[in-house]
Amino acid sequence: MQFSDVIGQTKISSRLRDSVRSGRIAHAQLFDGPEGSGTIALARAYARYLHCENPSLEDSCGVCNSCLAHEKLQHPDLQWAFPFFKKDGSTRSVSDPFQIMWREFMLESSYIGIEDWLNKIGADRKQLFISVDEALEINRKLGLKSFHGGYKILIFWLPETMRVDTANKMLKLIEEPTDKTVIIFVSEKANRLLPTILSRLQTVHIPKLKEIEATNGISIITGVSTDKAAEWAHITDANIAAAIRLSRVGSETPDLQLFSNWMRSCWARDGEGIMNGANEFASLGREGQKKFLSYGLHMIRQCILGNYGVNSLVRLTEGEQSFLSKFQRFIHEKNVVALSAFVEDAHKDIASNVNAKVVFFDLSIKLHTLLRIES
Ligand SMILES: [Zn+2]
Repeated sequence: MQFSDVIGQTKISSRLRDSVRSGRIAHAQLFDGPEGSGTIALARAYARYLHCENPSLEDSCGVCNSCLAHEKLQHPDLQWAFPFFKKDGSTRSVSDPFQIMWREFMLESSYIGIEDWLNKIGADRKQLFISVDEALEINRKLGLKSFHGGYKILIFWLPETMRVDTANKMLKLIEEPTDKTVIIFVSEKANRLLPTILSRLQTVHIPKLKEIEATNGISIITGVSTDKAAEWAHITDANIAAAIRLSRVGSETPDLQLFSNWMRSCWARDGEGIMNGANEFASLGREGQKKFLSYGLHMIRQCILGNYGVNSLVRLTEGEQSFLSKFQRFIHEKNVVALSAFVEDAHKDIASNVNAKVVFFDLSIKLHTLLRIES
């Protein structure tokens, strides 16, 4: 991953290269931006540029030993941290059992989200985090001498998944840096970081891509036509990671089937349909349930936008459009506020570990009453 492989973000790329050439390299940095905007891609290109033996004004050289090692993600002075789960039977909770999968994951794409990582490691039902053991291990690794005499770089993905005790261990490393170390935190929700950590990081704000840039990137990465890429860029709000997911599932999200069946059952007060939905919902695991409810909220909003004729803002796949063309008349100004509030409450209940089937049933009854209100 070089700067020339990063989709859009040319101003930020240029600023990062300038900072390296002028020697203004902050020891602890935060790349803060939404999923699919290229935060990881930028961190990788920047790390490679820092290590490159013969960088040009525009990019790393691509041919030196360092560049070749980066290409295969085998540079000994590049470390990775990311959320994971504790394997059954292991005494210490460290990322070692996941590092090979992580490397494969990174070689597949730099445009990723937590959902892709959950799928990769088969952790659908597990909560991911970064443990204290892992923070200690990072301290140990960064305390070692650099292999090639240059910078020791750590790219730390989703630091917001650190627990407080882990964050405190990382704080020590940030406050008392070891020699020639660069830590790049790559975050989607920087406001969840401890203020004591946040205040010590040099932040690079990475904006979401423009639709035209995302279109170009999606077309290059997935190989679809420009028209299709433009459609996906629009549906995903220029999130390349989400567009890659669409390309894998044949452009329909599995959530749509569950959501459309559920809405039909709720409207008809079809007990058997609701029970089937509850079973399917329960089988998604906590992260999947939260994601599904967020999807429900997204669909409710799209109904309202559609009703008001704001079609340029509606972000839907073909299947979703076809479902909503029939469904959106049931969502209107007399029920939308209450509907959204109930779905948000259910999301909070799931996050607090309330029984998934109970949440689903309860919400279904409320939705039935609201969907029956005439506009
Ligand atoms: Zn090079």
